[in-house]
Amino acid sequence: MEASLVFRLHERGPEVVREVLLERGWEEYDEEEREEEDWNLYWRGSAFRNSEYLNLMPWQRLNHHPKTVGITRKDCLARNLRRMRTTFGSSLYDFSPTAFILPNDYTRFLSEYNKVTRGPSAYWICKPVDLSRGRGIFIFEDMRELVYDCPVIVQRYISNPLLISGYKFDLRIYVCVKSFHPLTVYIHQEGLVRFATEKYNLSSLHNLYAHLTNTSINKFSLFYKSEKERVGRGCKWTMSKFRHFLQSQDINELLLWQRINNIVTLTLLTIAPTVPSCPNCVELLGFDILLDAEFKPWLLEVNDSPALTLDCQADITVKRGLISDLIDLMNYTLTDSLRERAFQRQGYNKPCIHAQHASPVSIPVLKETKYQKRRNQSLQTLPKIKTHHHPEKINQRQHAFAAVYQRHLPPVHLNKKYASKVEAANKSDTDDRTLNLILGPQSRTDVSVVNRQTWPDRAPWLTDNRSLRVSEVTNYDDTETEAEAHVSFSLAEIPHRGLGFRREKLPDIYRFHSGIRRVRKERTAALNRQHVPPLRVGDFIRTFPFNAATLKASQHTLDVKKVIHELHKLTAQLASRKKLKRREEEERDGEEDFDSLLWGPKDPPLLGHCVKPF
Ligand code: ADP
Repeated sequence: MEASLVFRLHERGPEVVREVLLERGWEEYDEEEREEEDWNLYWRGSAFRNSEYLNLMPWQRLNHHPKTVGITRKDCLARNLRRMRTTFGSSLYDFSPTAFILPNDYTRFLSEYNKVTRGPSAYWICKPVDLSRGRGIFIFEDMRELVYDCPVIVQRYISNPLLISGYKFDLRIYVCVKSFHPLTVYIHQEGLVRFATEKYNLSSLHNLYAHLTNTSINKFSLFYKSEKERVGRGCKWTMSKFRHFLQSQDINELLLWQRINNIVTLTLLTIAPTVPSCPNCVELLGFDILLDAEFKPWLLEVNDSPALTLDCQADITVKRGLISDLIDLMNYTLTDSLRERAFQRQGYNKPCIHAQHASPVSIPVLKETKYQKRRNQSLQTLPKIKTHHHPEKINQRQHAFAAVYQRHLPPVHLNKKYASKVEAANKSDTDDRTLNLILGPQSRTDVSVVNRQTWPDRAPWLTDNRSLRVSEVTNYDDTETEAEAHVSFSLAEIPHRGLGFRREKLPDIYRFHSGIRRVRKERTAALNRQHVPPLRVGDFIRTFPFNAATLKASQHTLDVKKVIHELHKLTAQLASRKKLKRREEEERDGEEDFDSLLWGPKDPPLLGHCVKPF
């Protein structure tokens, strides 16, 4: 019985998601042919309803976390950042231009306006709070030009943007929040640089082709197709191309990426404690960052459904890879591909909203789904988490692990049919097939970064399920623990696969002497017990947690203060770094070992090689 993963796209789009998934061997959901719950991924451009989170089955994933509007709507973002500024200081939260939510903040805006107009020229930008793609935006200098008929934010206009041959641009950074509890964040190395199509000029504030960088606007410019100095045709570059540009400038590139990275983390911290825990969801966010002439990055906005249309070659290169890597991050297992078949004789714990993290959501009375009806009729008891403790006595830490692992629970008591399937899948001669099923023939994730993880001591009930281990995408690390050796051996046998599958080599700095490996092996084993999320998945680099302290600070209730303290330390160290210096691994003895790559460069160095010990 062949098992395929099944995707469901709301209102037929986006096409690139369909293409990537079909290439990976997925099937598209057809409601005429399939049961209501017979799918693995539901992709929507808009938010899901509460009931959709609450009805989520263990084999299903959604492409949005609940309640992220706190950063994705312009007014909410402004409000939340203001709150954080008050709590943690304006020097830390100084990355977003001063903003006022109108009409409410009208008086405050007026007083600020009067204050700044006494100095050199100040410019403002007015944006409707819930529109996107540049709609309804205008820039003004004189208060009399401010006319609005819907809620808007008025923001200080960054009037000295960094220009390339006179053209304004901003950066679209793709961020995946794999989980809010514990907070786990990845940033994609490939992003987009979006250019205005006419030269920047402060004496023509009404020329949107010179002041806005939205593709949806600039593709209608007369100059869209013409060859523009240095920028070229169209209005987009890939991030790789931008990096070549940066290399030609005398700037501390690593510090720039780290500052952008900080913006992402600090922004997510504003909502992380209030987002309900939903381990089966991921969120792909588009952060829009503008660099000013001093290379200071400014956050303009956060998009919850970044555009996935393919308008030009840069889009194709970036977005196809992005979606493919995102699917790898979702970490589908053989169990997931069997869907209901793997779970029907089992009870299951719905893994979506976890009470201890959920903010007060009104839970509607839910319609019983066909699957739930059958499950309830079968009167089977739930296997729950197999633990020696009484459930009530599970401490907080175990709850955090439970959140991560709950969706793997059902295979503990497999029905016979499924058990034989898992056994077959674990025979070495079928490893390749299993991986193909999980990663898909088009996966961009290197087998070398797949499955180097031991299961936590606190989840011993999982250690028998090898098929799950094979599917776990996890840390690149030269260390191998005994428990994982047999799996990585078989992975090493797997040959290169088809188009789109890259065997990306990490730089030499990852190779360590064998003596050091032994020390690392022990430390890594200790950290693995805390479930260290994978270091990189395809071109996604884990940016949070980034060291042992932030891992710890995010395990239970998120310790925002501690995280901010660690960010400070790291940035200060990078800022004072004279040159990238490789340190010997022995120097780190006695330090807590936590591999974390520095997000940004194509072949990113380990943080530990760029900064002094923490
Ligand atoms: P939308 O959701 O409509 O795209 P954005 O906030 O992203 O709204 O703004 C659209 C564009 O306007 C940005 O891509 C950028 O080029 C420009 N822009 C927005 N805010 C500012 C600002 N404060 N300073 C300078 N340019 C800005």
